[in-house]
Amino acid sequence: MQQVLKYLEQNQTRFIGELCDYVRFPSVSAQPQHKGDLAACANWLHQHCQSVGLRSRLCPTEGNPIILARTFQQASRSRPHFLVYGQYDVLPAEPFELWQSPPFEPRIAGRSLFGRGACDNKGQHFAHLKAVEGYLKTGTELPCELTFLIEGEEEVGCTHLGAFLKSNREELKCEAIVISDTGIPSLKHPALTYSLRGIAAIEVEVRGPSRDLHSGIYGGSVENPAMALCQLLGKLRDKNGRITIPGFYDDVVPLTSYERKQLARLPFNEKEHRDFLGVPKLFGEKGYPPVEQRSARPTLEINGLTSGYQGDGSKTIIPAWARAKITMRLVPNQKPARIIKLAQQHLKRICPPAVRLEVKPGHGGEPYLVSPTSRKAQAALRALKTAFGCEPVLLREGGSIPIVTDFKKILGADALMLGLALPDDNPHSPNEKFSLDCFEKGMRMGAWLWQELAQN
Ligand SMILES: [Zn+2]
Repeated sequence: MQQVLKYLEQNQTRFIGELCDYVRFPSVSAQPQHKGDLAACANWLHQHCQSVGLRSRLCPTEGNPIILARTFQQASRSRPHFLVYGQYDVLPAEPFELWQSPPFEPRIAGRSLFGRGACDNKGQHFAHLKAVEGYLKTGTELPCELTFLIEGEEEVGCTHLGAFLKSNREELKCEAIVISDTGIPSLKHPALTYSLRGIAAIEVEVRGPSRDLHSGIYGGSVENPAMALCQLLGKLRDKNGRITIPGFYDDVVPLTSYERKQLARLPFNEKEHRDFLGVPKLFGEKGYPPVEQRSARPTLEINGLTSGYQGDGSKTIIPAWARAKITMRLVPNQKPARIIKLAQQHLKRICPPAVRLEVKPGHGGEPYLVSPTSRKAQAALRALKTAFGCEPVLLREGGSIPIVTDFKKILGADALMLGLALPDDNPHSPNEKFSLDCFEKGMRMGAWLWQELAQN
């Protein structure tokens, strides 16, 4: 083990350079013009896995290829097998003008590496890859068998991963899946995330006249779709921050007192949090502290709102239509399909008769929960403690990783979420970065993890 740790320490500079090469690929899965970049990125990663000594395969899917890189030729029944999951695709980098340096030209400042995808998720699974390189290149025997599964469609809903898991179920059977795609409160608070929120998306369209109308000639006798949409959306939440869709909270499992106690251990300073977010005041569901509001309570957010004229100057019209994109974050045991249905029914019920309404269902992902007191969770906590040199915390993550529930359903395995993102890493925002300290400690955690997990 000492040899592995020494190898990781001695090769830091090279590892950082390799991560920069990886981040340089604009592997944006949402934008068709980047199809070639995704293929090039997958190919680079596949070759990189081979060069560190893994048996890597580039598996075609109907979408972007999936990389399967294993430590073994044939799985042995006597050794435990674990999966490491990651994604090589990234979110669009727009708006470009808000980046301090180009998103696909990695830049190092202090102990941060800036670039789209540095944190979400290239840097995080790359740390695991480097930890395993440490074993393979020093001839240190791994106490278990490992498969890296790195896909290229995470940011567009893991379109083809479910089918891939199903058709490779036997090969992918494992004790647990390790995923580093969540956050930690600080370098002094490494964390195991034991719950994720789910998600349910809808698109709401309100249509009025058959075309944009002159607001002087017709205004006053025709409903304005933008106004109607605003009024509809405004009714979805009350002044206490409660969602007003009937039945929305029916399946929510309340927190246990143990969980509330664990969450209360997390460092939280309201003023700092406010300043960091740039808001004059926090807002959330009444009766819950902010830490619970953003991880253990369901929400409804407007993600985008479009209607009418947005160019220079003014244009006096009644727009023909107005649209909103909405996502709801769900907690155990809310079901996305049911929540989407409830939202559709409610919006139809309250829509004014002077406009037409269409509510299109979008993607959904179920919430997730794994026992923080299980043996595997405890093993992961020990690895965190050794690598970071301090007592880890338990977290509920506000975000969603829909594939975690698929892993559970298809492979029957729980996920250990050992994220390495700091609160100011800006994943999904301009100026995304990854902490090089997290990278370094993440590699050490990756190295210790297999020792701890295999002992179980
Ligand atoms: Zn993401």
